[in-house]
This record gives sequence, C-alpha cells and structure tokens, in this order.
Amino acid sequence: MADCSMLTRELLAQLVSFDTTSRNPNLDLIAFIEDYLARHGVASTRIDYEAGAKTNLLATIGPAVSGGTVLSGHTDVVPVDGQDWTSDPFVLDERDGRLYGRGSADMKGFVAVALAMVPQFLAAGLKRPVHLAFSCDEEVGCLGVRPLIRHMAAHLPRPAAVIIGEPTSMRVVNAHKAVHTYETGVTGIEAHSSSTHKGVNAIMVAGELLAEINRLAAEMRERGDPTGRFDPPFTSVHVGTISGGTAENIVPRTCIFNWEARFIPDTDTEEVPARIAARAAELEPAMYAVSPDAGIATRRTVEVPGLASSEGSEAETLALALTRSNGTGAVSYGTEGGLFQQAGYPTVVCGPGSIDQAHKPDEYVDVTQLAACEAFMQRLARAMATIRTGSPRPAAS
Ligand SMILES: [Zn+2]
Repeated sequence: MADCSMLTRELLAQLVSFDTTSRNPNLDLIAFIEDYLARHGVASTRIDYEAGAKTNLLATIGPAVSGGTVLSGHTDVVPVDGQDWTSDPFVLDERDGRLYGRGSADMKGFVAVALAMVPQFLAAGLKRPVHLAFSCDEEVGCLGVRPLIRHMAAHLPRPAAVIIGEPTSMRVVNAHKAVHTYETGVTGIEAHSSSTHKGVNAIMVAGELLAEINRLAAEMRERGDPTGRFDPPFTSVHVGTISGGTAENIVPRTCIFNWEARFIPDTDTEEVPARIAARAAELEPAMYAVSPDAGIATRRTVEVPGLASSEGSEAETLALALTRSNGTGAVSYGTEGGLFQQAGYPTVVCGPGSIDQAHKPDEYVDVTQLAACEAFMQRLARAMATIRTGSPRPAAS
C-alpha cells in the first residue's frame, strides 16, 4: 500500500496542532500557511471574514491566466467537546497506518497535501495556475468562504475548475444536497396553569408546528429522489433542538425549536418553509384572540446551496482523469461546492479520508488516502503544465 510523504505528515501535524474549532480565531493557522508559502516564494492574500479573528487565504502558483484549478479547503474544525478521544485530538498520532487528530479527515489532510505539493507545483512549469483557497467558518454554515468567492470573482482570472477537498475517499462527487436551517420561535402568553384559557401555551402551539413538520417529512420521503443518486433518497426534514417553558404549573410563554431541511438539488427550497408559514398562519388567529403579543416567527439561519451535477463539466472531466475513475457520486452533506457553483465555477468534491470519520472522536485519515491525494495532485501538476489544445466546453460564466 502506498505511503504518504513525510512532508505531508509534518504539515498535517502542524495544521492539526492549531485548535481551529469554528468558535476560535484561525489567524495563527493562517499565519503558519502564509509563512510556509512565503518561504517558497508564493505570495498570498488574506480575505477577512471577521476582522481580527477569522480570515481566508488565497494564493496562486503559476501564471495569472484563466483556465486554472482551485484547490479549496476549509481551515476550521468541529468541536471535540464531550467526545471520548484515545489520544490528544490536537496532536497528530499515527497508529496502524492511520493518522488520528481533529480535522485529519475533515479537512486538514487535503490542505496538508496541497501545501506539501507546492514545491512540485513550482517545479512543474505550470502553464495554467493552481489556486489555493483556504476558508474559515465552514462548519457553521459555509459562512467564511462567501467573501472569498466574491473576491475571486472580482480579481482572479477565471479558473476552469474548483476541487473541494472534503473527505470523499478520493471519489469524484458531483452533486450534494442543499442545507437550509431554520429557527422557529413561538411567543405565547404566560398564565397560571389553572387558567389555561387566559394564556397561550407556546409549547402546545409548537407541537402543532412539529406535527406539520412530521407530515412534511413523510411527504418528502414519499416523493423520493428523481435523480436516484442520494442516500437517503429524499429531501429530509428534521428537528434538532427544542426549548421552552419554566414550570409545570405555568402556561409557557416561549418555545423555540431549530430544524433543517436537506434538499435534493434542483428542487424547490421554498416549499418547506412556505408550508410551515401557512400552518403558522392558521394557528395565529386563536393566539391573537388572547393577546396581540402572541405569535409565531420563523427565520432561516443558514442557507447552503446544493451542488447540482453538470455531467461533462470541466471540473468533472479533470477530476475523473486525475482519479483515473469513470464514475461520479452524490452525497447528502453540504459543502462549499454549491456556493462556488452558484458563482459560475465548475465544481466537484474530491478529497482524502472518509466522511464516516468526520466530526467523530478518534477522527483519522488513512495514510493511503493521503498518498492517493498526492498522486492526484501530481497528475494535476502535469495537466496544468500542458497547454490545452481544446476544451470540451467553455467554462461556465
Ligand atoms: Zn468539512
């Protein structure tokens, strides 16, 4: 089995050592990458997301021309709070051909390989550029990358392909679901529980809304997946948290619940919130009859667009050639890919490690996966060093 390079290991160990849980600043990690790139003579640009705390980094290797490839990775990781780890999550630990550490799979492994490849990219005589795009605040709704993409659209000669290195076990994924999250707050009227008629019970109203979400979830499941590619094969709807009430003998004044829908790409993402709004509108008159202060409000908290497959896109053709495979997959988790696609960039997801290990205690990446990613990038260097004689189709605009 192939082994990854020492440089990849060393870089991954460095990246893992920065606790870049999304709630923390990522500036130390970004400074480390800037310094590494500068030592190789590669300039990089920070695109701030939150001044003084969170930033993205963009670097170009090779000529400043169009037709390049973007290697995109996020620098933040999910929390380790409450997780039972065998070894320190922020110290890379190698056991039985696996490298353990928070972010090893999702997705500092990909970032480490991209950085380890910089000397080879520089030596390859690139005719088309390789762009490194490292983002922040991905795990909390793909937030940080948005100003980065705006910056790229305004300043970067148009790349032909974007590769998002989320863990796919190096399979080429050309579609993922859209993820929209919502918060619904029910405001009731507090009363002594012996006088329920003088109050509005926020929890019981919320129960009616939850029943509607259940109906919707069942309906979506029934409707299925016309593409036949997703697991589960339907738009899923789910409630994740709920809180409300103060005591058994008080009619509760508030109930707040957080919920999400994961939509099959290219389906109507407004139907689900519209149905909940319609049910709320049915419930509100009875609440207003007790007090005009009662009511229901839903707001969308996160919106990550889906990645819709575009067969034969430049990104797909390139990634299939680099992985030496001929089939693409679809996944149910969201990535920054949908946002890049929305901006007009042909995009696929392909990276080392398995999503099964992501977000869990004892997260790891197999060294063979990192080796496969290195081979992928070596082929990318060769491809970008070759002048295209003709593109299968022009880059989307
Ligand atoms: Zn990720």
